[in-house]
Amino acid sequence: MSVFSAPAYDQHELVSFCTDKKTGLRAIIAVHDTTLGPGVGGCRMFPYASDEEALHDVLRLSRGMTYKSALAGLPMGGGKSVIVGDPRVEKTRALMEAMGDFIQSQGGRYVAAEDSGTGVTDISIMGERTPFVSGVQDNGYGGDPSPSTALGVYLGILSAITHRSGGNSLRGLRVAIQGLGNVGFHLARHLRAGGATVYGADINPTNLNRAVTELDVLPLESADILSADVDILAPCAMGAVLNEQSIPQIRAAIIAGAANNQLATFDDGARLEARGILYCPDFLINAGGIIDVHYQRAGSGTVAARAHIERIEQTLGEVLRRADSGHRQTQVVAEELAREYMQAAIDAPLSLAGVG
Ligand code: NAD
Repeated sequence: MSVFSAPAYDQHELVSFCTDKKTGLRAIIAVHDTTLGPGVGGCRMFPYASDEEALHDVLRLSRGMTYKSALAGLPMGGGKSVIVGDPRVEKTRALMEAMGDFIQSQGGRYVAAEDSGTGVTDISIMGERTPFVSGVQDNGYGGDPSPSTALGVYLGILSAITHRSGGNSLRGLRVAIQGLGNVGFHLARHLRAGGATVYGADINPTNLNRAVTELDVLPLESADILSADVDILAPCAMGAVLNEQSIPQIRAAIIAGAANNQLATFDDGARLEARGILYCPDFLINAGGIIDVHYQRAGSGTVAARAHIERIEQTLGEVLRRADSGHRQTQVVAEELAREYMQAAIDAPLSLAGVG
């Protein structure tokens, strides 16, 4: 297994591996860049098929966090962690405690939040062993950042509609959501309230049924969701769903979802552009959760966090305008803008969100 030459390595500052004989914990912490602050990012638990798959995932996710935080104007770097295992059958309290110890051993260069396969309870258990966790503060405001992520994605969808058609109404529009978990469910709620017809698929029948019964989401088979005949596609499950096989089948004109690393490869951004599909970069529009986490850590209120999340709409508008005028991929333009923001923050540190 290669590390330094791994495709997603991209000059990571730190990659740390852990095996704990007592609990069976196998985990990786990756910190991509701490220029703007500690590497803050979710702790994902997933039954990876191989070590390579786990390493690839954590490196790509960690790198994405650097750009996400920079573009959101947050004083945070990029980091992520993964626990190898099936959260439904292998998660134990002892395993979460051991993960807390592992995070603590990094001395604050990595701060964990919840992610796919982990929840507020798990992060709280880790928090018994280390202060370097987020999303669990008992300050009257805190906990699950997923509703904030969903809000940011929703605002991104509105921005994309405005860019494409000049309007900002969801009435008469059809949206397909892949994955009705923590984020997908709240996104469906916003979209339904905005007047959209929402289709959804989930491999977990409990999550699918909840959205169908509580929000009138129209169920589709998981195999059909990416190619559904809709206006907007919102991937809210796993990464790499936009690839050589799926892109020719997509019928939506706009793709805007919460899942990290939706593009399987760089070429897939070009494939979407060639098909005239407007892709809203995931790390830009799913930043609501990390913005929320930042305000939780600072002990600040929901009003300031919400105002900050609302800036996603303008930032996406800027990216889409630049991409259009230069006939360039939205993902490339968003990364370029993130690097500009990082440089500006280094030149004038006070321009970062001053809530910390
Ligand atoms: P989650 O685990 O709560 O929900 C994901 C859902 O997708 C689950 O219900 C799962 O059963 C379903 N799913 C998995 N594979 C599927 C498939 N092939 N087809 C249909 N459904 C499938 O996770 P979440 O917290 O809602 O996060 C969703 C995505 O958004 C993840 O990629 C996560 O990394 C990303 N994200 C989440 C946040 C957050 O605040 N939670 C923030 C930024 C990014």
